[in-house]
Amino acid sequence: MLVTYDGIVVGRREIGDNSCFIDILTDEQGIVEATAHGAKKINSNLLSSASLFSYSTFCLNKNKLRYTVNSAKPKYSFHALGSDIEKLALASYFAQAIKHCTPSEQVQGETAHDSHVRFFAVSLYETLHAGCENGRSIPAVKSAFELRYSAMLGFAPDLVACDNCGEYDDPKGMYFLPDKARLLCAGCLNRYYGGECVKLFPETLYAMRNIVFSPLDRCFKFAVSGDSELQLADICEYYFLYRTERSFTALEYLKTLLKK
Ligand SMILES: [Zn+2]
Repeated sequence: MLVTYDGIVVGRREIGDNSCFIDILTDEQGIVEATAHGAKKINSNLLSSASLFSYSTFCLNKNKLRYTVNSAKPKYSFHALGSDIEKLALASYFAQAIKHCTPSEQVQGETAHDSHVRFFAVSLYETLHAGCENGRSIPAVKSAFELRYSAMLGFAPDLVACDNCGEYDDPKGMYFLPDKARLLCAGCLNRYYGGECVKLFPETLYAMRNIVFSPLDRCFKFAVSGDSELQLADICEYYFLYRTERSFTALEYLKTLLKK
């Protein structure tokens, strides 16, 4: 049976000299593993579509539970990521996160309408343009991915207002409790609360609301710099790893690069 999916390659394993297995992120079936026969031959029409981060329309032959790539038509190339080691490391972290966290069916919830394929494509696009004119910084792209993807997996933090009194923006400060996924204003915060608790810079809160509540194509469009960029990075990474209960080797590698 032939099936057609738009998808992005999030993993690849070599088989022998000419072929490979590829893991394709799809909206319909989550991650699909397919064999790409002959994809490594120089004259193969799968040469570019079977490479990591390839965004293509895949026509797959399904036989019981196994898929084979029949043909593929490229939609967008993120090939240029390979020329920048930090961008490649960031994209690899995203791919590893998606490969391990994508549910086999779309999550029900507030953001159930978000396409995972489109989100990953936008994330790769933002990564490719990080540091360019009108682009975000690498830490800002990473933060937006971590927080929005957490929300898409069903872990959206409640960032609308103080969870206790409904205050939207207390001039004395707003606090984020990542373990409880909620906000409290300065007046409602119990000063004896023993868990993780961060007093947010106004830009950090603005960015977090933008990341969670904007349409997909706007969720990377916010401005943070200096201390608010560092704070956003700390919060989003902590939140994502805490909610998904995972660690990622690609993240550890990325962090060694960003420290230099
Ligand atoms: Zn309050």
